[in-house]
Amino acid sequence: MSTVSDYFGSSVFDDRVMRASLSSDVYASLRKTIDEGSELDISVANAVADAMKNWAVEKGATHFTHWFQPLTGITAEKHDSFISPSPDGSVIMEFSGKELIKGEPDASSFPSGGLRATFEARGYTAWDPTSYAFIKGKTLCIPTAFCSYGGHALDKKTPLLRSMEALNRQALRILKLFGNTTTKRVVSSVGPEQEYFLVTKEMYDKRPDLRFTGRTLFGAKPPKGQELDDHYFGVIKPGVAAFMEDLNDELWKLGILAKTEHNEVAPAQHELAPIYSTTNIATDHNQLTMEIMQKVAAKHGLVCLLHEKPFAGVNGSGKHNNWSIATDKGQNLLSPGETPYENAQFLLFLCAVIKAVDDYQDLLRISVATAGNDHRLGANEAPPAVISIFLGDELNAVLKAIETDTPYQGTKKTQMKLGVDVLPKFNRDTTDRNRTSPFAFTGNKFEFRMLGSSNSIACANIMLNSAVAESLRIYADRLEKAKDFEKALHDMIKKTIKDHKRIIFNGNGYDEAWIKEATQKRGLLNYRTTADCMPHLLDSKNVKMLTSLGVFTQDELHSRRDIMLENYCKSVVIEANTMVDMARTQIVPAIERYAADVAKAASAKRAVSPYLKCAYETGLVEKLSGLIDEIAQKTDKLEKALLEIQSAKDIVEESALIRDTILPAMSETRVPCDEAETLTAKSYWPFPTYADLLFGVK
Ligand code: ADP
Ligand code: MG
Repeated sequence: MSTVSDYFGSSVFDDRVMRASLSSDVYASLRKTIDEGSELDISVANAVADAMKNWAVEKGATHFTHWFQPLTGITAEKHDSFISPSPDGSVIMEFSGKELIKGEPDASSFPSGGLRATFEARGYTAWDPTSYAFIKGKTLCIPTAFCSYGGHALDKKTPLLRSMEALNRQALRILKLFGNTTTKRVVSSVGPEQEYFLVTKEMYDKRPDLRFTGRTLFGAKPPKGQELDDHYFGVIKPGVAAFMEDLNDELWKLGILAKTEHNEVAPAQHELAPIYSTTNIATDHNQLTMEIMQKVAAKHGLVCLLHEKPFAGVNGSGKHNNWSIATDKGQNLLSPGETPYENAQFLLFLCAVIKAVDDYQDLLRISVATAGNDHRLGANEAPPAVISIFLGDELNAVLKAIETDTPYQGTKKTQMKLGVDVLPKFNRDTTDRNRTSPFAFTGNKFEFRMLGSSNSIACANIMLNSAVAESLRIYADRLEKAKDFEKALHDMIKKTIKDHKRIIFNGNGYDEAWIKEATQKRGLLNYRTTADCMPHLLDSKNVKMLTSLGVFTQDELHSRRDIMLENYCKSVVIEANTMVDMARTQIVPAIERYAADVAKAASAKRAVSPYLKCAYETGLVEKLSGLIDEIAQKTDKLEKALLEIQSAKDIVEESALIRDTILPAMSETRVPCDEAETLTAKSYWPFPTYADLLFGVK
């Protein structure tokens, strides 16, 4: 038996392999590209490509692909084999530096939101050497960015890398002001906690809604749900344990640091968390994790549901984005330090995050907006659609002391004088209030909890990195000019707390009263749906910030708004069509059959004795018949609403119509169907119920 450390990363062309297979010159110059972003010479690229190919072929690979993340939110790949014909009729395996660095997928059918006219359909992919190449199946996958020939980013990775660069630039300016001249790079890190559901393939196949939309569109509440809380952290069932074991093996081979796994709140719900890594690598790894989860599930006769709300009335699935910033020396800039000076620096970075989250609440909401996640945000389980920051009582008290120039009532009473006093270590606040916060400080990192389980984490981190870079830019501009650094610093931190304290909320985020206070008293934003928030991507303050930092061009932002709204509209329309279809061709016929059999039973009984009233049967048939009428009427209404959205003049109007007409009509259609399910004999019901699905995995 080999141990994990033997095969961990065995499918990755990582530093160990590079060091072993490249000459020391080539290795050194590749390392420089990886660490400092310097340009790569073609001769070096050729040598790297050759070593990569030899390594991959030895491991059984026959093909290579530029692996990228188009705006669909999933990854894409086009495979080319290494073979090249030889004059003697045989083939040799070839892979050049040019092929490594640049690819030209025929990408005309990836969404571009108007960025790429069809005549220049051939966008190109460019190697991201900071994310290691890996083997999946028989293919060497090379992580790449995807751009149009006009230079526009057609993917999520390019703006992510740009946002990391923006954050690096501005953070270095701040560090320099604090006398740190040795740090060469500042990077953001992420540990995404991934939630998912497992159901059996057999049952999944019987539900067109799950197959076509990823979520159930019908389903009465099961007799037992999550009310007993007996699933959370409970014993893992053998079928699930076998899946997790296999999943870990596959992820470890790919060098993914899968670390924690446990059952989640809902029955059939689970979570996997890796150890955190640099944001772009964490993003690649999370995409791979989601893909491998589906593959491994299939091997076990299961289906992994990554939808945010597969079951109404049951906890949805999210993805907690644990985020921090650190120097290349490993100093976490969100960790209070040992010296007063480090503490002042910590408070400045903390304030930069507070200011960023308040100034760009809309962008953070937008970064997690999908039709699926709308079902979760604002419901009574996930964080609300209102964004606020949880700091915990201790840190809150420190900020209050600074704001009001009063002594900090900590373990010992101290006047908080920046640059003089040492802060206490802030332990992670583990109260329930913390859990309900959409954006919580957890000791040395922030946990952004609004991401949906199927979201690419790229979007949230692009916005987070950019917004914080913008705060730091403003701070650096001011501090670089200051005559008295300490005073300017103190004043600026104080001002940030004063100006942005409305975003800090340490209470219960699920409370209805909070939403009222947040929106009415504090003026915080509450965009409940994708249709509400997405148009604000183009608000001038957002465009100005994102373009001036070089994260997006104006055209790229336009394209993203359109693509995200198109995705929203398409997903809901597919759901609505599936709903109409299932109601008419499966649900109504099932109720009809059952009602007819009940009626038949009643007449059979009356044939035995004409005095039998058969009140139960009569009442049931009447009720079922009434529900059939209601279903017919509601599906007609839904269908009519679907026709009406076709006259929308643009995608913004269409998305608003979908929010206002289609989604409510879908909710209305569901009600009589779910009621009928509770009245119809189980053997007649055309697909597995919630109880079957949620408790089906052994
Ligand atoms: P939880 O109780 O929410 O599971 P953990 O402390 O175990 O909290 O961390 C959850 C995730 O946060 C893990 O992926 C972990 O690697 C990640 N994490 C820990 N420290 C950091 C950090 N400094 N920056 C980013 N992510 C981090
Ligand atoms: Mg967590």
